Amino acid sequence: MTRKILIIEDTPTIARVQKHIAIKVGYDADIAGTLAQAKELISKNSYFCAVVDFILPDAPQGEAIPCTIAADIPTIVMTGNIDLKTRDTVEKYPIIDYITKENKQAYQYLEKQLQRLPRNEEVKVLVVDDSVATRHHICNLLKRHKYQVLEANDGVEALAVLEKTPDVAVIITDNEMPNMNGDELCTEIRRLYSNDEKAIIGISGSDTSHLSARFLKNGANDYLRKPFNSEEFYCRLSQNVDMLEQITTIRLQANTDYLTKLPNRRYFFEETVKSLKQLKKQELTPSLAMFDIDHFKAINDTYGHDAGDEVLKGLSICFAKYFTKDLAARLGGEEFAVYFNDTNKDEVLKRLDNFRHFVELNSPEFSKEKIQFTLSIGYAHGPVYQIDELLKQADIKLYEAKETGRNKVIA
Ligand code: GH3
Ligand code: MG
Ligand code: MG
Ligand code: MG
Repeated sequence: MTRKILIIEDTPTIARVQKHIAIKVGYDADIAGTLAQAKELISKNSYFCAVVDFILPDAPQGEAIPCTIAADIPTIVMTGNIDLKTRDTVEKYPIIDYITKENKQAYQYLEKQLQRLPRNEEVKVLVVDDSVATRHHICNLLKRHKYQVLEANDGVEALAVLEKTPDVAVIITDNEMPNMNGDELCTEIRRLYSNDEKAIIGISGSDTSHLSARFLKNGANDYLRKPFNSEEFYCRLSQNVDMLEQITTIRLQANTDYLTKLPNRRYFFEETVKSLKQLKKQELTPSLAMFDIDHFKAINDTYGHDAGDEVLKGLSICFAKYFTKDLAARLGGEEFAVYFNDTNKDEVLKRLDNFRHFVELNSPEFSKEKIQFTLSIGYAHGPVYQIDELLKQADIKLYEAKETGRNKVIA
């Protein structure tokens, strides 16, 4: 479902720019030129957020702000200028942010905020503080920006929450707490998770200036001194979440094959090495298959390299769909591999032959040119816990499949 944004703005050119930005980042947008129109739209629609102009023909004193706030619509205020009086009025309300329109970067900043809001819905933040009032305050700030919020009373409780909810991205922690204080908690979190997995923001009411340094040395990414201003809180938090997001993107790119979007060789090796260690401990038998398209060079020669690429992409979609519970990767060229979580040999062989048969029948659907092709598959199953060795054994079987007529599975 597309998220809907309400733009309340009386200058048509500005409204159009805002709408353009909103649509670009994936929203549907309605525009109201007056407060009256805004009220009418709010009564008939449900909005994910609103961008509200401070001065409107029928609302010269920022009266549109309480209107969207009362309707529970997360609100970003755009103002022409921010004199002290306007700023005081704006800050009275629990808004997401305010942006001054004169500022050159204003629209880029708006775009960033609009991108962040839906993203925040997926981000879990753990708030650790023994003061119920402070915790409550921070949680409210977080919920206003649509973050998912978890709470803990002290460091010990925080670690228990992290164990149960390992995908918490940010931990915001007080320092002075019973049982386990903030910097001990930082140290413990850093023993378990690296900086690019979780961000920690330390908070303290203490005046000692070396506390911030101690927090940072123990692995916190950032530090805020109480009482903090909500604008600063949001800026530091979003910067940290942005950083985690960028790292995730880079890691995903490093692990993904550019053409087919399947995991690449590098990721396949990393993951199988970890899994093989586990299997060895549990004395379970690993199971792996290698796949090679038959006469792929002829496909390139006949239909062109682009058609060959299409075949690779179409086949990769099948791999991803067919082997959801296993690890399928493109090793390179027209070679693929699947590492199985299921270690039952007969079951796996049945699935492999079904897959081979499926590709034989359905491969014309993968390309505009309706190119039909087949796969040769080599399968290795045995107490071999080195990935190179396991692949070598599967490759020997694959070679055998090629030598004995192709379009078959050899175990
Ligand atoms: P066999 O049945 O023995 O496997 O024959 P084959 O033609 O499939 O094998 P061969 O190894 O001779 O040729 C593989 C070809 O795959 C050669 C190479 O140009 C092509 N190839 C490798 N990577 C890509 C790619 O990313 N896109 C396209 N279109 N072709 C690729
Ligand atoms: Mg105006
Ligand atoms: Mg090959
Ligand atoms: Mg081939």
